[in-house]
Amino acid sequence: MNAAVLQVTTPGDAPAAGAADPVLRVENLTLAFRARGRSADVLNAVSFELRPGETLCLVGESGCGKSMTALAIMRLVPEPGRIGGGRVLLRGEDLAARDEGAMRQVRGNSISMIFQEPMTALNPVYTVGEQIAEPLRLHQGLDKARARARAIEMLRSVGIPAPERRVDDYPHQMSGGMRQRVMIAIALACDPAVLIADEPTTALDVTVQAQIFDLLREQQARRGTAVLMITHDMGAVSEMADRIVVMYGGRIVEQGACRDVLAEPLHPYTQGLIACLPELDREPDEARPDLPEIPGVVPSIWDRGPGCPFQARCERAMQRCREAFPPLARPSRAGAIRMDVDAAAATDAAASGAEHGVACWLYVEAQA
Ligand code: SF4
Repeated sequence: MNAAVLQVTTPGDAPAAGAADPVLRVENLTLAFRARGRSADVLNAVSFELRPGETLCLVGESGCGKSMTALAIMRLVPEPGRIGGGRVLLRGEDLAARDEGAMRQVRGNSISMIFQEPMTALNPVYTVGEQIAEPLRLHQGLDKARARARAIEMLRSVGIPAPERRVDDYPHQMSGGMRQRVMIAIALACDPAVLIADEPTTALDVTVQAQIFDLLREQQARRGTAVLMITHDMGAVSEMADRIVVMYGGRIVEQGACRDVLAEPLHPYTQGLIACLPELDREPDEARPDLPEIPGVVPSIWDRGPGCPFQARCERAMQRCREAFPPLARPSRAGAIRMDVDAAAATDAAASGAEHGVACWLYVEAQA
């Protein structure tokens, strides 16, 4: 993995030819927690785009800012969080301009979310049919009978056998895999433009995980839904992603097409994540040496200093890594990074997602 010299993307750079207009565009999203008179950045200048029918994986360990990004998009940031800046554009409309009542129309309708643990996300006192029918009645005005019929149809489409009978089951009467299928049915009931899937298979065994991935792909192909999948599991990424955004310390440190990032990860953090990935062609019962781990832990938001947030875990850290966060840049065989281009503009442009970009001083030519 060569430390190729990079070129900062400029605002005039165009997305890949033929790329559809983004359905969701996140621009320079910034989020801070304020407590006991202190403020700490949770997200810093996060920018990316999501196009119809594609799967974008937000990747990183717990505490890197993935789930907070999703909650900020949905405007469900918990206290003491505050969105400090940036925009979230859904089909070009800024969600920040919507009041809470209007956001309730967006959630579950235009943007839906499925969670890691369906048992806590599903309401134990309502049948699964009632829970699928609720968004249909709320957002689409269906009456009780039509909403129930549609709930049965949704259960069938996500592969629940005997849906006419299972529609009256309570969540505890179903297996973990079936409950996750129900969560997907609820999330897709109103045909959202964007589905956010937060670690959707972490609580499931590998066979059921594979079934859920197949189901998500099939539903996505049928409906053209854009999927934003949040995961720390690089195996899931290699299965599902069209494009990857790697986050560390509340910032984007690398992004690009899945094949490019997996074939040639540039950031030391991405390289570490991929080194932790088991070989996919190994037999399950075959003995294997312990997988490597990235030494150290993700720093708390209260302990992040200036510079690159990965510096304490990076074997290649140098003085300038401690001084400033590097601009997001893209590989180039041709020229040096343009240091006069400001990082925010570069991040803006790289968010088109057309190029493989990395934020690491290793790839920036030292100035004379
Ligand atoms: Fe390591 Fe520096 Fe690159 Fe951060 S910027 S990943 S500390 S080399």
